Amino acid sequence: MTPFPSIQFLSDPHKQHFIDGAWFTGSSGERIDTFNPATGEHLATLARGNQSDVDKAVTAARRAFEGPWSRFTPAQRQQLIIRFAELFDRHFEELAWLESLDMGAPLHTRLLPSRQGAVQNILYFSSQARSISGETIPNSLPGQVTTMLLKAPVGVVGGVLAWNGPMFAQLNVIGPALATGCTVVLKPSEDASLSVLRTAELLMEAGVPPGVVNVVTGLGSEAGAALASHPGVNRISFTGSTQTGRAIISASAGNMKRLQLELGGKSPDIVFADADLEAAVPGVSMGVFNNSGQICFAGTRVFVQRGVHDEFVERMAAYGRTLKVGDPLAQDTRLGPLISQRQLERVLGYIELGGREGARLVGGGQRLGGELTRGYYLAPTVFAGVNNDMTIAKEEIFGPVASVIPFDTVDEVLTLANATEFGLGSGVWTRNLATATRMMHALEAGTVWVNCYGLVDAAVGFGGFKQSGYGWKGGPSQTEGMLYQKAVYLSGGGS
Ligand code: NAD
Repeated sequence: MTPFPSIQFLSDPHKQHFIDGAWFTGSSGERIDTFNPATGEHLATLARGNQSDVDKAVTAARRAFEGPWSRFTPAQRQQLIIRFAELFDRHFEELAWLESLDMGAPLHTRLLPSRQGAVQNILYFSSQARSISGETIPNSLPGQVTTMLLKAPVGVVGGVLAWNGPMFAQLNVIGPALATGCTVVLKPSEDASLSVLRTAELLMEAGVPPGVVNVVTGLGSEAGAALASHPGVNRISFTGSTQTGRAIISASAGNMKRLQLELGGKSPDIVFADADLEAAVPGVSMGVFNNSGQICFAGTRVFVQRGVHDEFVERMAAYGRTLKVGDPLAQDTRLGPLISQRQLERVLGYIELGGREGARLVGGGQRLGGELTRGYYLAPTVFAGVNNDMTIAKEEIFGPVASVIPFDTVDEVLTLANATEFGLGSGVWTRNLATATRMMHALEAGTVWVNCYGLVDAAVGFGGFKQSGYGWKGGPSQTEGMLYQKAVYLSGGGS
């Protein structure tokens, strides 16, 4: 293990819940093992949260919401968020190192370069703390009645996180909650909880009162389900698969929780024959292979216009071969391992199925050998000759696997691109403004990237359409989602 900046946090690898500003072993004393996906070695143990632990965290969050936290002014909350941003920045290397060990993202080429973006994301929410406003609305009522719409925080927010980037994903729950005066119970993925637990300590150091941000670790079917159905939780911000999203919707029915669902995708990335291929080849390739394909908006359905199809396929496969796959802590590693043996087997299953369904493997397709067999490494994989009916073109694989599909016309590719249950990301590569304009209006997706892929700005935000979810993360509408609107009729009395 490389002692990158500090191994202080892991000097005790038996991690506990973080509730009401203190570590808590958990009511059952049961634990879950976590593994380093780069080596398969045991990394840490997590407290296996249950209903009683979630109750304790929700009670602490409710007490903080109604107690001291409710007396913080917007300016004080803004100050806290700024202090948190400073600490997150100061400890960024350590957090990134923990995240890399925990879920395998390359430290130097993926995590460390995201520092600015992450800190700016937090700071964006500091500005939101001072931007919340209601309205006064002229009415037509008799007498002297003033009518206004007030905004109030919804209360306790449950944040259920996926494993593919919890260090960043948590910020989109913590940030708007601190900005609006809500409190939080986070349930990170059982496969990657360490950066979230460490962040909870930083929040305390920043001065966030006990109970405002709590973390309960454990399994989705236990701690996750308990949080999603808890009557004391007012809103759930969920990041994860569409299948689990459905379970979250059902669980929310008991007390009609508000929901924000960031779910799976099968995003189209479309290359027209007039595109700048020098930009499109690396852009489209990294749109799929980045984070070893474990990105919700990965552009895994690559539509290429027939005029450049063969050249593009060849260049994309060649680009994949240039990407160094290996130890996520090494300087030059571009792609790390998949999160787990289970995920590796799942992705290999899809690769095998692609072959059986008649797709042509033109790059990658195999688990990497030698030293890398200790971890869960897969070569960047490109399938050509794919059509929309094949399973690999329909289901989210969540691995570095591109399915290239040829097309001839704009109308044809629009029909093919939109023929999916998902609607998360989409990309268009063209030099023709009319084509770009047509596509950006007609693609059914939460984001359309034109001549780029995967950019996300905190002030703009990100969200899904169709079965990729609803609600929005980042931007003013996420902050709005943590507020509810209240109409007030203030009678001046008299006649
Ligand atoms: P997952 O749905 O298996 O798990 C996500 C989280 O939900 C975990 O914390 C898990 O413990 C919890 N969970 C599982 N079952 C639960 C239940 N019944 N009730 C409550 N919580 C439960 O997803 P994953 O495998 O961790 O992550 C990969 C998925 O996440 C992919 O589908 C990916 O597209 C999606 N994702 C989406 C976005 C987005 O912004 N749209 C971002 C990242 C990941």
